[in-house]
Amino acid sequence: RAKLEGRGAVRFFQQKLHDELVRQHYLLARLEEALDNGEFSLHYQPQVSAASGRIENLEALIRWEPADGPMTTPAEFIPLAERSGLIHRLGDWVIEEACRQQVEWRAKGFHEHRVDINVSGRQLVRPDALKRFEDTLQRHGLGPRDIGIELTENVLIESDETVLEDLRRLYHRGFHIALDDFGTGYSSLSYLKHFPVTALKIDRSFIHDAPTQPKDRAIMEGAILIGHRLGLEVVAEGVENAEQLSLLRDMHCDLVQGFFFFRPMPAQEIERLLSGFVGGHGGLSG
Ligand code: C2E
Ligand code: MG
Ligand code: MG
Ligand code: MG
Repeated sequence: RAKLEGRGAVRFFQQKLHDELVRQHYLLARLEEALDNGEFSLHYQPQVSAASGRIENLEALIRWEPADGPMTTPAEFIPLAERSGLIHRLGDWVIEEACRQQVEWRAKGFHEHRVDINVSGRQLVRPDALKRFEDTLQRHGLGPRDIGIELTENVLIESDETVLEDLRRLYHRGFHIALDDFGTGYSSLSYLKHFPVTALKIDRSFIHDAPTQPKDRAIMEGAILIGHRLGLEVVAEGVENAEQLSLLRDMHCDLVQGFFFFRPMPAQEIERLLSGFVGGHGGLSG
């Protein structure tokens, strides 16, 4: 590997920082317009039963293909949308689009699966965020069997009491509320104590190294045990190979999600999958 030293290295990193800032500035300037232009879409990634391999739910993941620029990922633009405040409009769009799609799927006879959307902590800073979620679902005639939520980020802990009340109401109405990225800095054990949740999703960093690293394996197993002792459904994200799946099945993890089974894909491909025209990964058979 080439070694960068002295002033050359400083210039190299300054240039990288500069490029990064230019790109952020560009994306930020384009975000709102992109929303108006319909440049966003939702992709869906199946979650399958670890025991049976059956597709149970779909996680909705936002995608942005700028009409005039390079492809970008949510990890890049969600934080920008959060800082600029556009996350609220973007979040409304995600709920609306997930509902529209789910209504279409129900009409086409796909009745089994639920669609879970991601809601970041920053979105819940707006006190009526969850009420708007409920209103949108009601307007589409949808309920807890149709749409669920995945919560991320630590802002929750500072969130308003009204948000907590709304969350409790959703919980009592039977909504699926998953704690995302469980085990990372963003979601910790205290969340399980303080927040009404029905499921936890073990962060993919623990899944990734579980086959080779005893510590990751221990954390993964511990998370599954805690989840089950609390009566929660446990989901593993980022499952990429048979070794990981085998461990998760041995530990009685409920649901698994990851490239080993399916990548996130456009609604059309999901339809073909649900229609049975496209087989999933053979990982669960045999
Ligand atoms: P997340 O909710 O934890 O979503 C899982 C991420 O892991 C997704 O990245 C997914 O494409 C990726 N993934 C799935 N299976 C595998 C695998 O086997 N291996 C690897 N390496 N990765 C896998 P994506 O779509 O880029 O999303 C990144 C994050 O952006 C999400 O993490 C979520 O926090 C956020 N996000 C995505 N869509 C939305 C949205 O509509 N609203 C909000 N607020 N946040 C969103
Ligand atoms: Mg998620
Ligand atoms: Mg996650
Ligand atoms: Mg994650």
